[in-house]
Amino acid sequence: MRPAELRIATSVLVIGTGGSGLRAAIELAERGVDVIAVGKRPKADAHTSLAAGGINAALATMDPDDTWQQHAADTLKESYLLANPHTVQIVAEGAERGIEDLERYGMPFAREEDGRISQRFFGAHTFRRTAFAGDYTGLEIQRTLVNRAAQLDLPILDTVYVTRLLVRDNVIFGAYGFDLADGTRVVIHADSVILATGGHTRIWRRTSSRRDENTGDSFRLAVLAGARIRDPELVQFHPSGLIDPADAAGTLVSEAARGEGGMLRNALGERFMARYDPDRLELSTRDRIALAAYTEIKEGRGTPNGGVWLDVSHLPRETIMRRLPRVYQTLLELQMLDITTDPIEIAPTAHYSMGGIWVRPEDHSTDVEGLYAIGEAASGLHGANRLGGNSLIELLVFGRIVGAAAAAYSAGLEVQQRSAGALAEARAEVDELLAADGPENVRSLQRAIRDTMTEHAGVVRDEAGLLAGLAELDAIEARVADVGVHPDLAGFQDLAHAFDLKSAALAARATLDAALVRRETRGCHNRSDYPDLDESLQVNLVWSGPGRVDREAIPPIPDEIAALMREVATAGKLVE
Ligand SMILES: Cc1cc2nc3c(=O)[nH]c(=O)nc-3n(C[C@H](O)[C@H](O)[C@H](O)COP(=O)(O)OP(=O)(O)OC[C@H]3O[C@@H](n4cnc5c(N)ncnc54)[C@H](O)[C@@H]3O)c2cc1C
Repeated sequence: MRPAELRIATSVLVIGTGGSGLRAAIELAERGVDVIAVGKRPKADAHTSLAAGGINAALATMDPDDTWQQHAADTLKESYLLANPHTVQIVAEGAERGIEDLERYGMPFAREEDGRISQRFFGAHTFRRTAFAGDYTGLEIQRTLVNRAAQLDLPILDTVYVTRLLVRDNVIFGAYGFDLADGTRVVIHADSVILATGGHTRIWRRTSSRRDENTGDSFRLAVLAGARIRDPELVQFHPSGLIDPADAAGTLVSEAARGEGGMLRNALGERFMARYDPDRLELSTRDRIALAAYTEIKEGRGTPNGGVWLDVSHLPRETIMRRLPRVYQTLLELQMLDITTDPIEIAPTAHYSMGGIWVRPEDHSTDVEGLYAIGEAASGLHGANRLGGNSLIELLVFGRIVGAAAAAYSAGLEVQQRSAGALAEARAEVDELLAADGPENVRSLQRAIRDTMTEHAGVVRDEAGLLAGLAELDAIEARVADVGVHPDLAGFQDLAHAFDLKSAALAARATLDAALVRRETRGCHNRSDYPDLDESLQVNLVWSGPGRVDREAIPPIPDEIAALMREVATAGKLVE
């Protein structure tokens, strides 16, 4: 007998209730379009709520000379010329509107005494253009959007795990999944689907994502539906993630710790940044610090647990309490470590997926008709390095645009063709996993993938390592066929983890394949066997399945923007 199935029909389905998904859903609801948003985490606690430093827009509230053109120029420069100029222009130009939308929804931005929105430096920006709310900007954005969604009576089901998109003849017609609490199957028929399901940074051992976040679901759902992935190899590593405890490995130590005068030392006690960036030392950029720390560890000068020391203990206690209270509190809670007296052991940590689903710049439509992608799931804005504060504004700008595009698509659709075969396939996949009783453990296979990616596709890569990584992945995938899945009284998390595992395997393969083809060093992507930038690789790499990577030309940068591109100092701008 077929298991109980909840059947829902809507005009637009939004998968993901982080900042991008909620913003898109709000746009649809405000336009009076029938919409449902689903997520696999509590809506108040999506990954977006972790964002700290702030959100960018050239509002010129602090520096009157700032313009959206300068914002675009800074973004393109930081991307090592791999961002799509059209995407960048849309975000920079639409950013002010994105902030206005948030204000309209009640976002409590930090303000100057005269009421202007405060803006500060954040990374390599020419001007102060990062708006913020304390050091919990993402949390406030998430709260604001959840509240607005509630005002609009927007239906949000945040215990639904989506396992498949439903497609017929390259046209989307919905999605299939199950409820995490009781396993009820869920079929959602929709004219249009927006994927807002985040990135793939959880496939490394140390990551700033929590356990069931950023497991690469976006990649798998999109590719099985017929879409492609752009630049999966471009992943930003943050220099300071905690090593201990294992289940919190990768939790970030704010870059403000370096900004306030924190020193980095290796196991020999050397202040090693003197070798890599003697002028800026610890105030160097995120990618250079990550590379330096990685090199120290790899060359045998790492701490006993495979990290480096970040020391703020020489700073006055009141400076630490006033300027770094979150760091102080986090270390006390997680490690019982008092940073006013002891150094912190840190290592580079996978932080942000700059690549993602291939989308058209103007409306973030994909290769599949009626399917859109936004937020960290999508690609085009960041190239080989993300400018701090740009991802949050991307959620707001494209949330609005994609909401409008999906609404128009749905309104223009004359018939919705469904496919019983596609639905049966999705159903069978869940049935099979639920019946799986093999000896392999999902959790240990997830760990195996994370070990492989950390060993072979971390901060520094080379051909031999990437090939070894692919061979290991082949072996892991063979074992995936023999997993056992055991839902229990507490819910269907075990089934969810099995799907997370499948997604992680696909995302790992895409990343390794593309990293092999990018035979150069550019931004976040360091190839020790190709240490220089190769101008012929100023292209995007588009992955469409195992071993299939195509080069895609990037449109030229408009002269008006190119004229504004220059090196920007980052000293004094480490806030997040
Ligand atoms: C510590 C930290 C600090 C940061 N600071 C900043 C900052 O200062 N400024 C900035 O611009 N950016 C910052 N970022 C980055 C930024 O927070 C993220 O890029 C952004 O929030 C991603 O939003 P999103 O809507 O794309 O996805 P997410 O918020 O990741 O939401 C993804 C959603 O998809 C759902 N989902 C995933 N898979 C499935 C599935 N299979 N079925 C159903 N639902 C699914 C999840 O449940 C979730 O609701 C920071 C990130 C971290 C980790």
